[in-house]
Amino acid sequence: MTHKIAILPGDGIGPEIVDEAVKVLDCLQQEHGFKAELEMAAIGGAAYDESGHPLPETTLALCKSADAVLLGAVGGPQYESLERELRPERGLLGLRSELELFSNLRPAILYPQLASASSLKPEIVSGLDIMIVRELTGGIYFGKPRGIRSLESGEREGYNTLVYAEHEIERIAHSAFSVAMKRNKKVCSVDKANVLEVSELWREVMIRVSKDYPDVELSHMYVDNASMQLVKWPKQFDVMVTKNMFGDILSDTAAMLTGSIGMLPSASLDKTGKGMYEPIHGSAPDIAGTNTANPLATILSVAMMLRYSLNAPELANKIEQSVSKVLDQGLRTQDIADGDEYVTTVDMGDAVVAALKN
Ligand code: NAD
Repeated sequence: MTHKIAILPGDGIGPEIVDEAVKVLDCLQQEHGFKAELEMAAIGGAAYDESGHPLPETTLALCKSADAVLLGAVGGPQYESLERELRPERGLLGLRSELELFSNLRPAILYPQLASASSLKPEIVSGLDIMIVRELTGGIYFGKPRGIRSLESGEREGYNTLVYAEHEIERIAHSAFSVAMKRNKKVCSVDKANVLEVSELWREVMIRVSKDYPDVELSHMYVDNASMQLVKWPKQFDVMVTKNMFGDILSDTAAMLTGSIGMLPSASLDKTGKGMYEPIHGSAPDIAGTNTANPLATILSVAMMLRYSLNAPELANKIEQSVSKVLDQGLRTQDIADGDEYVTTVDMGDAVVAALKN
């Protein structure tokens, strides 16, 4: 079967890191029997420069027809004065909503070779491998009514609405349990059921959906405790599932446990498992064009794509093992180097490809 993959390099370091990920995909095709058709399209500032819009119709159509999307990053200081609708980030948000990508998978993985990059003690974080499943299209970021209104007293009041319908909780629950089935079969649902009615319903639905996954162990934790436990003993977690806002905060905490933003991939999935894959970092305009960006987060995003959208877990494992191998060899890009010795973006990509060939 030939998979159709949309490739959206984007802005800043996007094209440099995506080039390395494409090399990995090419190697899988040449050496490991993987069949894919890769098609490039513009998004973000690059698309605005080309066509006047950060999400051109042609890009959207390609992404809709593809089995999976690989994205570099979008944004840059030169676009900050554009009106909001034309900014690069709107292209990305538009794509997420057009593709109905409601399930955001954010792994926090700390390769033992990089344990010293974390601000926590190595024994607490070495070998860490958590998956945070964040609901991405609902909750308080989207709930209505919302706004700022004037009260009779003359004072103004800001208000937002936290709302989740049962079907929204059900689908994110299925997503989390399915992910857990591919990992260590443990789901911790994070809520605030002691205070919020929405969380009460969230917990009830989580328990109901868990019955469809008898092999997965479900536990519950209040969000305040979860944030403490993430820093105290993060290795207790396998999959954490939570609402949009809690996930936004907890996934950044979890990412920082690893200390290396250039290493972390992410996925955003729809209900069929089709997804968009991207590094968690931005377009790093400060280092764009210098051949120093770390391409591993993007290469690891390809591994996630193979596991979660293209049903090729053995190839995903191969990529992850190759990344581990190059770290064992002592190769480091500038962001994860201990001293002054580091390799370029292209060197790192080449090293992963060489490891994949062995
Ligand atoms: P950033 O993640 O781009 O950069 C933060 C710091 O991390 C910078 O010092 C950068 O050099 C470094 N860094 C990031 N990725 C790296 C990599 N792969 N290798 C080595 N170092 C790396 O965040 P920022 O500076 O706040 O934002 C820059 C631009 O990116 C902004 O326009 C922002 O809106 C955009 N952004 C886009 C996305 C996305 O496309 N998903 C996400 C976040 C920020």
